[in-house]
Amino acid sequence: MTEIIIERISHMLTNKGHGLYGGEAVTQTEHALQCAALAENAGAKPKLITACLLHDVGHLLEDDFELAHAGNEDMCHEDLGEAFLIKWFGEEVCQPVKLHVDAKRYLCATNDRYFDKLSQASVHSLKLQGGPMSDDEVETFEANTYYKEAVRLRVWDDLAKDPDLTTPNIAHFMNYVAESLS
Ligand code: FE
Repeated sequence: MTEIIIERISHMLTNKGHGLYGGEAVTQTEHALQCAALAENAGAKPKLITACLLHDVGHLLEDDFELAHAGNEDMCHEDLGEAFLIKWFGEEVCQPVKLHVDAKRYLCATNDRYFDKLSQASVHSLKLQGGPMSDDEVETFEANTYYKEAVRLRVWDDLAKDPDLTTPNIAHFMNYVAESLS
């Protein structure tokens, strides 16, 4: 059973992630690997590294992500990703994935310099995702047990768009995925 999901995730990352990551200069697979590598370098726990590797798995499940992006449609990939992951992983993996879009809206509301550093594609999707959080939304977000992990993931997510960054390979990170299965 666990071999099947490991196989499936590594197959998705190997074969389905060749498309450019929504208007960025890296492919979806490079983006996933860079996000996981940044977490690993920062000394994050295996489950958070796994969440980083798989935070956009919802995009790999949608064949028409690029079309949705071009057509100004929010596919809610964080919910799609969480619904897929919840079958195999606990909250420490699933919650940061589910919350990583809200974390962007949170950071836009609470950190002035954050918005200025967002890529053009990310500013574009922010509008579709509801814009910066209101004060009430900020309060609700901070009540979530995993909000800090979601914010850490988000910061690495934003940095994981560097065409010159090299990372360990998929197999390397699949060790963390295997370790994180519930
Ligand atoms: Fe991402």
